[in-house]
Amino acid sequence: MPQPKVNNNQNIQVAVRLRPINSIERKQGSYSVVDSNGEKKEVIIKEKLGVNPSTRTFNFDHVFPPYSKQIDLYKTIVTPIIEEVLMGYNCTIFAYGQTGTGKTFTMEGERTDDPTLTWDDDPLSGIIPRAMANIFDTLQSQEVEFSIRVSFIELYNEELFDLLGSLEDTLRLKIYEDNARKGSVIIQGLEEIVVRSKEEVYEILERGAARRQTAATLMNAHSSRSHSVFSVTIHIKENTMDGEELLKTGKLYLVDLAGSENIGRSGAVDKRAREAGNINQSLLTLGRVITALVEHAPHVPYRESKLTRLLQDSLGGRTKTSIIATISPASSCLEETLSTLDYAFRAK
Ligand code: ADP
Ligand code: MG
Repeated sequence: MPQPKVNNNQNIQVAVRLRPINSIERKQGSYSVVDSNGEKKEVIIKEKLGVNPSTRTFNFDHVFPPYSKQIDLYKTIVTPIIEEVLMGYNCTIFAYGQTGTGKTFTMEGERTDDPTLTWDDDPLSGIIPRAMANIFDTLQSQEVEFSIRVSFIELYNEELFDLLGSLEDTLRLKIYEDNARKGSVIIQGLEEIVVRSKEEVYEILERGAARRQTAATLMNAHSSRSHSVFSVTIHIKENTMDGEELLKTGKLYLVDLAGSENIGRSGAVDKRAREAGNINQSLLTLGRVITALVEHAPHVPYRESKLTRLLQDSLGGRTKTSIIATISPASSCLEETLSTLDYAFRAK
């Protein structure tokens, strides 16, 4: 009997989410060249149509077809990660893909135009608000003492900015190695905000989103070039059966990556991107770090970018990572879609 294909790297999961084709793509004469099968976990690319059609099929750990619901993606990808975090482990979830394919839709989500809906029960809410609600609901139903801190950072052109800082201007932050804890970094000046309820988090999210908008205008940058990193640190104090106190610390990073469009198929930076500066150093290094982890390479180049330095204690080792690659079905995006699938496939 044929063996099912096993993913021998259980610590890195790769999912693909295909968004519906949109009216702009249709108007521009684009048609759908991507099919998906959630059950078989397949993405099928129709490279050539007509009399001699040719297709390419990619397998992933999970595949979410167009019109898949936010809640279903959450349950499949995020619920098991939250369990790990609450057991005291560090985890990271990335949204990776071409600009306009649904990274922010997946990570932050959107609001339905219905004032009676809150972040809590809005079907369009994405991973961040759902994860916070999930964490609070779980911990509040248990007999434990806990504290939760969040931060929201934007990484643009290898510089860090605090999206929740109390200063009027967006604050530039510096990263230092933490000499006390190997593999960890300290971010000087970063405001980590203690949150006591999910409602408090929703306010903070709105503040962060607004700040991200101003930052983008100030730096004359587009969100397609910046990475945003939402982090949650959870301390849990538990009393064991024999009366001992047990302290657990878990950390979750939720990362909305810069648009993948400037990285060529070979992993090289294209000329335009190079001329515009080293904007994709973090994205390139992330790919190399993940490849090194998947291949169990002796050296993992964490130190080669700000993003990977920042995430070092939550990538590799006893951590879990999920990559959600977002793609468009449109024929006009085919090259980028193939490039995204290649990048994602290498992480498997
Ligand atoms: P990105 O962050 O990758 O640049 P966005 O998340 O901003 O892309 O999505 C671009 C547009 O596509 C938005 O208008 C969003 O509402 C829409 N969109 C993205 N993904 C989906 C999806 N899975 N279902 C419906 N609409 C989507
Ligand atoms: Mg976005």
